[in-house]
Formats: sequence, structure tokens, C-alpha cells
Amino acid sequence: MSGVVGQRVDLPRDFAPLLIDWQRRAGRSGMPWQGSRDPYRVWLSEVMLQQTQVSTVLGYYARFLERFPNVSALAAAEADEVMALWSGLGYYSRARNLHRCAQAVVEQHAGAFPSTAAGLETLPGIGASTAAAIASFCFGERVSIVDGNVRRVLTRLLAFEGDLSQTKPQRTLWELAQALLPNHPSADDMTAYTQGLMDLGATVCTRSRPACGVCPMQGICRGHQTGEPQRFPVKTRTLKRRHESWWLLLVKLADGPARFWLQRRPASGIWAGLYCPPVFESEEGACRGLPKAWMDRLIALDAVSHSLSHRELRLHPLVLELTSEPLPGELPPGQWVDAGLLSQHGLPAPVKLLLQALLAPELFAQA
Ligand code: SF4
Repeated sequence: MSGVVGQRVDLPRDFAPLLIDWQRRAGRSGMPWQGSRDPYRVWLSEVMLQQTQVSTVLGYYARFLERFPNVSALAAAEADEVMALWSGLGYYSRARNLHRCAQAVVEQHAGAFPSTAAGLETLPGIGASTAAAIASFCFGERVSIVDGNVRRVLTRLLAFEGDLSQTKPQRTLWELAQALLPNHPSADDMTAYTQGLMDLGATVCTRSRPACGVCPMQGICRGHQTGEPQRFPVKTRTLKRRHESWWLLLVKLADGPARFWLQRRPASGIWAGLYCPPVFESEEGACRGLPKAWMDRLIALDAVSHSLSHRELRLHPLVLELTSEPLPGELPPGQWVDAGLLSQHGLPAPVKLLLQALLAPELFAQA
């Protein structure tokens, strides 16, 4: 029995064996990183899978491994190449940390990942849950992952009333997760248990529609017994998303093979380090400083929405096609990038789509 602020929690003893058995019978299988005990492959998949669905990750994972088959190859790469390969996966700080982490493994650990969750957590971009996933999958360590999906499963299983927007209940839940681990597991048991936690959260105990009818935990789940499992996890503070509008000045030079005028985003903030058309807070701001003769040629495309973790962006593309090279100072700071070389530059997903659309000549034929 464990104490939680204002709540006593009896741990269901059968949880670990039920989960291991269910994962082996009915859990997800056949994903290319499954069955590997290579920390490089497991780490890469774990980082890619944060905030991103398996179906999206598959292609990126294969391309990364083909280009960077091991941690030394990734560490030796140029940051731009890593960002370009990551382009479209979103949450770009993951790619920057991935590169930094590979360099730390090579420089500080002679190219070998630490073999414990505590050691892994000292590396850039590896948080407690990712460290636990690598340590349990690759080294059989008896340690629990507690990411968003797992928090949902465990708070429902235990009808855990603690408020997860507070630090103390978060820590308590982590302790309960540790207490639920299988007793004296083999390395294979730990693999099935950790994978089972992930699979249950992703495929059965989903956020808005927990499929209790087919869940192996139905008989021991207190959230299910309350009749309102969706009430868990309890969070009193929810993230408020900010809304922002950006005007993108998309300049295409068509005096030969197409080129685009792009800026490198600052090293921190939204789309940090990626290539992007100049960004403005208003249409007037985007036009200010441009030669008057260009104004008739500016085309305002329909705005598109793009969601980030904390923000909702409304992107307003302003397109300008030039047929000759502008004079110095006529455009905001930036550089020409050949359309044929865009794939070698890290581009935010919506920018990539817009630039691809601009390569369709009919857009300009309508102007
Ligand atoms: Fe989630 Fe329902 Fe399973 Fe409980 S029984 S873990 S609420 S799916």
C-alpha cells in the first residue's frame, strides 16, 4: 500500500504479469526498432516517437539509419544535414539535441551509451522516461517509463486522484510506477513490460475513448470501476495555447532554375536553426522597404494554420516572383537557395509545402 496526498493506493499485484502476457499475445510487433538491444537504434526511435505517430516515424527512421548507421556517423555529421533529414518531423529541438547527444556519447563515453537510466539521463535531450526506455529495452534494467501515455494508463488503473500539474503527485506517480514493476524480471520480461505499457496507452487506453471492453486490465482497473476512466489523469492547470499570425515573404527568383530567398531562423525559439522565408508580424511590415514597383506583383495566398506545442500559428504567405536579381538591400537579410537543393536544408513542414506549391507555374499564370 502506498500513500498519496489524501489517498491510499493499494497496488494491484497482477498488473505486471497481465501486461507482459498481453504484450506477448496482442501487443504491437514488427516495428523496425523492436527486438533491438542496440541503444543507438532504440534511442533514435524513442526520440522520433515523442509527439509523433509510428506511421510517420517509419520513413524517417529508415532514412536516418541509412545515412547515419551508428552514433559516430551521426556525431560527425554537419548540423544542417541532420536538420534537413529531420525536416517535416516537427519539434526541431529534438533534432538539435539528437546531434548534441551523439557528440557527447562519442566525446565523453568513447562512443558507447551509458548502460543505466541514471547514466543515460546525464546526456543532452534524454529525459527520465527516454532513459528508462533505453535502459529497460537494451540493458534489462528494472526501471519504469512514465511518459504521457503511461501516466494516463497508471492514473486510470489506480484511480489516482493526485493533481499531475503539481510536482509532488508527479513524483508519487513515478514511485507507484516503480512499485508496479515485475519482480525479478528477465531482460525479455522488461522488454515486454515496457513495450506493453507503451502499447496499452497507444492502442487501448486512449485519451478520449479507453477500450475497457478489450483491455487486459479491466478486472483490476479502478478507473474503469468508477465508470468514468476519462476523469483521469487529474490536471487542474491546462496548457493555454497562444495564437499568433505570421506573414511570410516568399520570394522566388525565376531568371533561370528557380531559387528562393530564405533566412536562417535564430538559434532559439520557433523553428530554431531552420531555413524559412523572412517572417513579419503584419502585411505592412512585410511590404515596408520593398521597392514600390514590386507591390503590384505581390500575391497574397490563403492563410494556413499550423499547430506547435504551445502555439497556434496562422501563416499568411505573400508571394513575389522576380525575373531578375534584386539590388543589394532591396530584400530583407537572407540568401538564395536553389529549389533543387531545398532537400539539403532543414525546412519547417508548412514552409516546405508552400515552396513546393510555388514551383507549380500555374500559380503565377493566374496573377
Ligand atoms: Fe484504461 Fe479501461 Fe484498461 Fe482501465 S480498463 S486501463 S481505463 S482501457
